[in-house]
Amino acid sequence: MEFPKENFSEWYQEVLASAEIVDNRYPVKGMLVWRPFGFAIRKHVTGLLRELLDETGHQEVLFPTLIPETSLDKEAEHIKGFGGEVYWVTYGGKSPLDVKLALRPTSETAMYPMFSLWIRSHADLPLKIYQIVSVFRYETKHTRPLIRVREVSTFKEAHCALRTEEEAEEEMKIIDGVYKAFWTELGIPFLRVQRPSWDKFAGADKTIAFDTIMPNGRTLQIATSHRLSQKFSKAFNVVYEDENGEQKYAYLTSHGVSERAIAALIGVHGDNRGLVLPPEFAPVQIVIVPIIFKGKEDIVMKKAKEIYDKLVVNWRVKLDDSDSNPGDKFYYWELRGVPIRIEIGPRDIQNKVLTISRRDNLEKVQIPEDRLLDELNKLAEEIHENIKKRAMQEFKRKIVVAKSLDEIKKSDNKPVVIKAPLCEDWEECGKKVEDQISKEFRGIDLDDKPEGEKCVVCGKPAKYYGVWSNAY
Ligand SMILES: [Zn+2]
Repeated sequence: MEFPKENFSEWYQEVLASAEIVDNRYPVKGMLVWRPFGFAIRKHVTGLLRELLDETGHQEVLFPTLIPETSLDKEAEHIKGFGGEVYWVTYGGKSPLDVKLALRPTSETAMYPMFSLWIRSHADLPLKIYQIVSVFRYETKHTRPLIRVREVSTFKEAHCALRTEEEAEEEMKIIDGVYKAFWTELGIPFLRVQRPSWDKFAGADKTIAFDTIMPNGRTLQIATSHRLSQKFSKAFNVVYEDENGEQKYAYLTSHGVSERAIAALIGVHGDNRGLVLPPEFAPVQIVIVPIIFKGKEDIVMKKAKEIYDKLVVNWRVKLDDSDSNPGDKFYYWELRGVPIRIEIGPRDIQNKVLTISRRDNLEKVQIPEDRLLDELNKLAEEIHENIKKRAMQEFKRKIVVAKSLDEIKKSDNKPVVIKAPLCEDWEECGKKVEDQISKEFRGIDLDDKPEGEKCVVCGKPAKYYGVWSNAY
C-alpha cells in the first residue's frame, strides 16, 4: 500500500494514524493522544530544544496550569487577543469559585506575578526561563492534528526579563540563534518573517515568526518570538532597582515552539511510503530483518542477534524477529521512517557482507560485515544531509519572487509562497497587495533584502521583501 503525497491533507492524516503517531479519536474535539511511537519522536525533538535552550542560559521551570482571571485580565491587549478562546474553570467540586480560573492559553500572565516577587535588583536580571507544557485554546476554526488543536500538548514557551531595550533585542537574537540551529538540525527550511502590526502577539510590540512551507504550498508558522517591551512589566509591576538605586520596569520577551515542529518534520520529509526521519529523531534508527530460508533459520537468527548486540550499544536498534514475511516487515518499518534497514540472509552470511537499505532514497548497498560500525556512522550522516538538502530544494521551488503586481496576481492561485519588493511603508503596501489577491500578507522576510528594486505598490525604493501565502 502506498500513501500518495500529492493529496497532502489526506496523506498527513493517514500517515499520522497508520504510523501510530497520534490518535485523534479522543472524545474531546481538538485534543489528541500521543501514541508510544509518536511520543518517542516528540521526546527526541523536545530533547534537542531543551539542549539548545540550556546551552544559551535558559532554565527549565514548571508553572501551574490554572491562571486566575484577575491575572489574565491585567494586560488589556493581551486579554483582548486571547479572551475569546479561553477555557474557564468555574467550579471547585460543587461550589462556584470566587475567582474564575483559566486553563493557560500561554503563560505570560501566570509567570509575571512571580517575576514581580523574584526580581528586586539589577543583579536578579537577566531572568531566562522556559517550560514545555500544554496550553489550551478554544479554537473555532477547523482543527487538524498537531497543527490546529484545542490542547497544544507540547508548548515550549521561554520567558525572559531583561534590564534594557538593547538587552531585550539581544535576547531576541539569542533565541533566533536557538531556533535557527533547531530547525536546521530538523532539516526544516524556514522564512524568518516580521509580522505586520495587526498580526502580532497580543501585547507585543514586535513579533518575529518562523514559517515553513508544507507540501501543498501552505505556510505553517512553526516558531514565534515576541518583544513585549514594558507593557506587561507595567501591568504586573515587574520592577528592579538599577545600579543608581532607581526603580525601573524590566523589558520582557517571550518565545514559543509547539508540536507543529513534529507536524513539519512529518509533512516536509515524508514520501509515498510514509515517514522519512533524520536518524537523530527516529525512535528506531536501525531495523534488522532476518531473511529466513528453510533449514537456515538457526544460522540467520544467530547472526542477526550477534549484529543486534553489537549495534544496541550506540544505536536505537530493533531486531524484527516476528513471524511476518520480509515484505510486510519492510513496509511496516518504512512507514515508520526507520532510516536504515539491515537485511541478513544465508548468502550474505556466507559472503561476510550485509545488505543495507536507506529509507531516504530507497537505495541498497552491500558492505563487508567487519566495516559495519564505521559505515553506519557515515551513512547516518549522509542520510541526514540528504534529507536536509532535499527539503531545501523543495522549499526553494515553492517560493516565487515577483517583480510587479501583475506577476503576483499570476502566481496567486498556485500552491506557492510569493515574495515581492516593498518600500519602508511595508505594512501599508503589503496590505494593499493582500486586498487584491487571495493569499494573506505574512510580513517581511528578515533574511533577504532587495537591491535596487522598487516597491510593487507605490514604486518607491524597495527596502524589504514582502511575503504572501496561504497559511495554516
Ligand atoms: Zn510602497
